[in-house]
Amino acid sequence: MSEETVLRVDGVSKSFGPVDVIANVSFSVSSGSVVAVIGPNGSGKTTLLRTLVGDLRPTDGVVSYEGPDTDRTIGYLPQQPTFRAGFTAAETLAFYSSLLDGGDPEALLDRVGLVDAADRNVENLSGGMRQLLGIAQATVGDPPLVVLDEPASGLDPNMSEHVFETAARMAGEKRTVLISSHDMALVEETADDVLVLNRGTVAASGTLEELYSRFETDSLRGVLNAIVGETDRVEVVGGNR
Ligand code: ADP
Repeated sequence: MSEETVLRVDGVSKSFGPVDVIANVSFSVSSGSVVAVIGPNGSGKTTLLRTLVGDLRPTDGVVSYEGPDTDRTIGYLPQQPTFRAGFTAAETLAFYSSLLDGGDPEALLDRVGLVDAADRNVENLSGGMRQLLGIAQATVGDPPLVVLDEPASGLDPNMSEHVFETAARMAGEKRTVLISSHDMALVEETADDVLVLNRGTVAASGTLEELYSRFETDSLRGVLNAIVGETDRVEVVGGNR
């Protein structure tokens, strides 16, 4: 398996006014993998992903795309994708494809299993179908890196699993998927590497096995509990707040 780096994140911080949301985050993403970003609510996952895809400018540090040179380097599914009303699923993808010379909308719909909904207006899609359309949209033009922010959130368990697996399945030789999620079971099933954020910093990262062994547990829930417990103890000892 190739170990080429597709994205390098070096000392990235992001503040909104006086509020430091992420601080000095560094990691690199290997091509062909599924990388999950996990962490408690408010730990900075969305802010980090938005910074990686260029939607936000870092206050400090550098994000470098190091993958193959293509028209579209990074595809992105925001937490709440919006689609223009009045268009069908197929028309929506055809529109994005035409901007990027990005391939056949039918093939994009097929990639996420939405062929049967091709002629349905976007406002009539179910929540899960919207997420699948958003995933397809993020892959228009075949970007080597696809960043998906909580694609499975707010869906019933079956749909959530289906959407997450569809997203993870897109990782392959030439495509890396970086995905945030709060569903530990889905991450355990699909992720090659995991980045754990806590209060805007990288609390731990590695393969599932590496994390389990380091925190002497057999689940990501155990890893998160250990990390959140650790910082709470530090705060009490430090006496601030
Ligand atoms: P997560 O995705 O892990 O839940 P977020 O990145 O959404 O975390 O948010 C992390 C923190 O940053 C939260 O406390 C949130 O209120 C704050 N935050 C996010 N966006 C902004 C913004 N535009 N202005 C001010 N604070 C923000």
